[in-house]
Amino acid sequence: MFNSDELALLDDALQVLAEGFSDLPDADPGLDSEKLRPILREVATQMRDNFPYFHPLYAGQMLKPPHPVARIAYALSLWVNPNNHALDGGRASSAMEKSCVSEIAGMFGWSEHLGHLTGGGTMANLEALWVADRLHPGKRVVASEQAHYTHGRISEVLKIPFTAIPVAGDASLDLDALESELKKGDVGTVVATMGTTGTGSVDALDELLVLRERYSFRVHADAAYGGYFTLAGGLSEPVRRRFDALADVDSIVIDPHKHGLQPYGCGCVLFSDPSVGRFYKHDSAYTYFSSDELHLGEISLECSRAGAAAVALWATQQLLPSRPGGEFSALLDDCLDAARDFTGRLDAGECYRTLFEPMLDIAVYTRLGQPDELSTLNRQTFDEAAELDLHLALIELPSELLPASLRHDASTSCLRSVLMKPEQRAWCEEIVRRLEQVALASGQ
Ligand SMILES: *Cc1c(COP(=O)(O)O)cnc(C)c1O
Repeated sequence: MFNSDELALLDDALQVLAEGFSDLPDADPGLDSEKLRPILREVATQMRDNFPYFHPLYAGQMLKPPHPVARIAYALSLWVNPNNHALDGGRASSAMEKSCVSEIAGMFGWSEHLGHLTGGGTMANLEALWVADRLHPGKRVVASEQAHYTHGRISEVLKIPFTAIPVAGDASLDLDALESELKKGDVGTVVATMGTTGTGSVDALDELLVLRERYSFRVHADAAYGGYFTLAGGLSEPVRRRFDALADVDSIVIDPHKHGLQPYGCGCVLFSDPSVGRFYKHDSAYTYFSSDELHLGEISLECSRAGAAAVALWATQQLLPSRPGGEFSALLDDCLDAARDFTGRLDAGECYRTLFEPMLDIAVYTRLGQPDELSTLNRQTFDEAAELDLHLALIELPSELLPASLRHDASTSCLRSVLMKPEQRAWCEEIVRRLEQVALASGQ
């Protein structure tokens, strides 16, 4: 199940790391293996209480295993345990972070930027909205009703007035509804979600930028989940145009720990105008050396951050550069293909209907049945599929997003599968076979 050759690679690299410090007097405190062994075995036993997120039959929430090179590089760096809050906390990992962040900015066609890694997408969005508010104090932030729930909450924390805008039938931001809000004249920032967490819908950023010419507001793109898809070759034409428009936004958030093959603890925020670095100015006397160029501790709200996250991302980018038409982009296309294949197979059968044509790699679907039974049927399917080792997710959707013939209550529990493991491309047939088996067993 797990390949222990990774440990040999780690051991090899660890020897190289140790050679760099071999002139130091030995200070190894020793290792009491006999004491550690039972504890670690107990940890392993307790960790069995998890869904198998790493396996293709886990087709539920947005969880993707890190690449082995990321896992090994992350572990390797823990022997140094660098802290990227400051250059004297981690010189090498700070340089790696800068290089990684430039590569990410390059994916969006940005030559100039200010940016850094964060603990995750929430912290990255908080920084983006904080800067947005500094530039448009007192004005509203708006985002779609399907935007990540943390935008409303972050706005609350920052005391920024926030409005949720209704969505169109494909669960992307409704631009007419947005324009009605813009006409009121107090919108400072519009958040465009480039891949909603629920349905994978991509807001029409290209059309949003046309509205910006008329109404003048700041645009923040929350691409925490969807951002890497800009590298994919197989986006539909309208979705391609939406991603291409990222070149012209004011800030972007992207999570390498979502589609970038990284362990958790790796988000990223980018600003197109480097001069926003002035807002971060603080005068802590002890955290870092000062230098002419702003370093990571001077452009981040978080103080201590895992240098390991930058080391892992850097190693991954060496192996799989973030370029269109390369090996990494092909892996993203596999996920797009998996979602298309999966929804096509489901729709070809009698028991399920998909609710949206997937823009990215998230499929949202329902059992077929009487409208008033759908929520129950879908929840049963979720439980019964798990007994066949097929793990799904549920999503509570406002019923307007269902076809009229399936609507009943104000909201409906539907099924959701994020097909973000490229291997799932080859598993769609088996996943759908198990889903059909569940439906047939319950007589539908
Ligand atoms: C996951 C996600 C977030 C939150 O990011 P975390 O890394 O979980 O903190 C924000 N926005 C979108 C669109 C997301 O998918």
